[in-house]
Parts: sequence; C-alpha cells; structure tokens
Amino acid sequence: MADKVAVVTGSNKGIGFGIVRELCKRGLRYVYLTARDAQRGQEAIAKLNKEGYDPFFHQLDVTDEQSVKAFTKYLKRKHGGLDILINNAGVINANFTETTYEDTIRVLNANYYSILTIQTYMFPILKDNARVIHISSDCGHISNLKNTYWIERLTKEDIKQEDIDAFVDWFVDSVRNGTLNEADFQEMPLLSYRISKISLCALTRVQQKEAGRGISVNSLHPGFVKTDMTKTAGFITIEDASQAPVYLALDVDQSVKGRYFWFDKTEKDWADANKKLYCVYAVV
Ligand code: NDP
Repeated sequence: MADKVAVVTGSNKGIGFGIVRELCKRGLRYVYLTARDAQRGQEAIAKLNKEGYDPFFHQLDVTDEQSVKAFTKYLKRKHGGLDILINNAGVINANFTETTYEDTIRVLNANYYSILTIQTYMFPILKDNARVIHISSDCGHISNLKNTYWIERLTKEDIKQEDIDAFVDWFVDSVRNGTLNEADFQEMPLLSYRISKISLCALTRVQQKEAGRGISVNSLHPGFVKTDMTKTAGFITIEDASQAPVYLALDVDQSVKGRYFWFDKTEKDWADANKKLYCVYAVV
C-alpha cells in the first residue's frame, strides 16, 4: 500500500488539504498535493512539511486541458500510472441566491466538465484496481431538492419524457435569458452548484459502468465544513471530513463501486433515485 500513487485535486486548502494530510498520516509515499496556483500549492506543502509530512506538489488546474494533459504525462513517466484519484477541486455560485449564465458555466466547468477532461486524460493511466473518488455534496443528492416544484415533477415515479423536456427547456432558457427570478432561487438556492453536483453523481454511475480493470468510482458528501467555500460555521472539522475520502481510497472493499457515501462512511441509498439522476443529467 505504501507505494501507491495518490492525487488530490484542489488540495492547497480546505478539505483537499485535509485529505492530503490524512493520506500522508497513513504512510503513503507518493501523495500529490495539487493546486491551480503554484505559489499557493508550495505554501501548502511548506505547512505540511512543518507538521512532518512530505507530499509531492504538482500544478494542476482542472479546467485547463493542457494542465491536465501535462500532469498526466508526468505521472505516467514518473510512476507508470496512478492508483488513487480524489477529485476534490470545486467552486460554488458567486452569489448564493442569484445566478447568471456566466456563473453557471464557471461552476459547471470547475465541478463537472473538468471531470470529463480528467476522465479523458487520466483514466487511461489508472492502474488495475485503481480507485476514483469524487467529492460531491448533499446538494447532489436528489432527495435534497424534493421540495421544489420542478424537481418534484422530475422525481415522480411515473416520470414522463415530456416532464424532462419541459424541465430542460425551462432551465436552459431561464439561464440563457437571465429570467430565473428571485422566487426561483428562494426555492432553488445554489442552483448551478446543485446541478453540477447532481451531474457528478450521475457521472459516477456512468464512469463506473465503463471503467473496467477492477477500477472503482465512488462519490461522497464530505459533510458541512467551515472552509473558504462555505465561510459559515460547519458541523464537522476538516479532519473529520477527510476520513471518508481516505476510507474509500484505502479501506473499503474493492468490490464497492458506483456508490454514494456520507461523511460518516455510511452508504446513501441512491438506487431509487437513479432514474431521476439521469433525468436531471439530461440538463447539462
Ligand atoms: P475550498 O474553497 O476551501 O477549496 C476548494 C479547492 O478547490 C481550493 O484548493 C481551490 O483552489 C480548488 N479549485 C477550485 N477551482 C480549481 C481549479 N480550476 N483547478 C484546481 N483547483 C481548483 O472548498 P472546500 O474545501 O469546502 O471544498 C472542497 C470540495 O468539497 C468541493 O468540491 C466542494 O464542492 C465539496 N463540498 C464542500 C462542503 C463544505 O461544507 N465545505 C460540503 C459539500 C461538498 P484555489 O485556492 O486556487 O481557489
């Protein structure tokens, strides 16, 4: 286990930083702390060095194809591949109760489309039985959105194609035209963020189906944590929030695949929501 190569995206601060620290604590030799800004990354490395940990650093902007490509090339050359990939990097709406087309694209780019780029370049270098963990959110759990009119329509047992089409039309038009109004957001705050994380959950299922070679792909909600993203008092510490990702990376049985976990390491049942997740997936 000690020789495994692990990468954590967006790990210069917050939960990603905590995950790197926990992986180091567990004795992994090749842990990569990555950051889009090299200076911020090096500062984070220096902090961990002071604590007695010695992770490696590599620049990685998950929204920059060339950056993902360059890092993949480096990992292949240096280690022959990758054992553990934790997709943690993420952003949230600039304004929690309003959205714009530009901001929606920014959030989707960072939280969702970036994972497709990572899949294109990094999945081919995953070693047999490698583990991929997506840091999603409870915002990506469809049951959280039940109280909204549209999501309720989408989560009906007898969902019809016209419901999906109507939702997609409404959502895309509203975002494009900037007509999502205050009331919509009273009901659906953080809409772009939610859509990005729901998509990530759905993608987990798709990727697991296609991964092969014993590779596992799982998603999790790390808990509500005080970080630069939330800025408010969280319910758990960064250290606590880092345990479940490390559990999925190192401890859980290899047969656990395509699943969704909570920060306390319990599995969340999304089986009954699969169909619905795919419905919302159609939006993006
Ligand atoms: P932070 O804002 O503290 O950290 C986010 C990290 O992602 C930073 O290192 C940031 O880098 C990095 N990042 C953003 N965009 C990119 C990019 N394009 N390329 C590379 N790195 C990038 O947030 P958290 O630690 O709270 O969030 C970590 C993950 O956990 C996110 O995916 C978030 O959605 C998820 N999450 C967090 C919860 C919470 O309560 N905190 C709850 C549920 C989910 P930089 O410093 O350069 O901005």
